[in-house]
Amino acid sequence: MASVSSKISDGLSPDIIAAIGKARASLAAFVDRFGAQVGGIARPWTVPFPDGSVLTSDEFEHVWNRLHFLVVGDAFGPGYGGVFDYASKLSTIRYSTVLGWGAHPGGLEFIALHEVIHGCEAGDAVRRAQWDAYRTHRKAMLGRARRATAKREAAWASEYHAYPQFAEVEEFCNLGARSVADHFQLPPLIAIPTHGFEYGDLTR
Ligand SMILES: [Zn+2]
Repeated sequence: MASVSSKISDGLSPDIIAAIGKARASLAAFVDRFGAQVGGIARPWTVPFPDGSVLTSDEFEHVWNRLHFLVVGDAFGPGYGGVFDYASKLSTIRYSTVLGWGAHPGGLEFIALHEVIHGCEAGDAVRRAQWDAYRTHRKAMLGRARRATAKREAAWASEYHAYPQFAEVEEFCNLGARSVADHFQLPPLIAIPTHGFEYGDLTR
């Protein structure tokens, strides 16, 4: 069963501490509800993803039983509402990401399932492919030089981040979250995702 905790860093205002608690409680409620629902369904089951890959009940359980949501007040880089560690299945997520998505119908389910898909092999395969593409891009930019200044490296990285391909893992996780929600008849997300979470070519 997935689990949820929070981290209160020094210097946070009482309002933010309260919001972290709220985000933690809503994620915990989802984990209880969805865990009970899926636990009551006959196995094996599979959920097809739009790219032809599938989520199997075995893989879901592998992720779900290790998944931990750590709700924090810290800000992440531009466009990021958290960070997911594939190996440990730790989702470090900002309270405002949970509450922001949760303000939309189906949004809490959507963001929680998005993190589940990050933890699956299908989601991580997209992430690895992106990084392979990034390394190819970097190599092409580097040309015959063996190394570049930190400034040039940063410029290439930011250029690459502007490419739609780099958002594909987020997009894949969004599509996967919708597929899982649909399969289990959870409320569909009614919102237009922002923050660079849904652009690129997969949905076109
Ligand atoms: Zn994500």
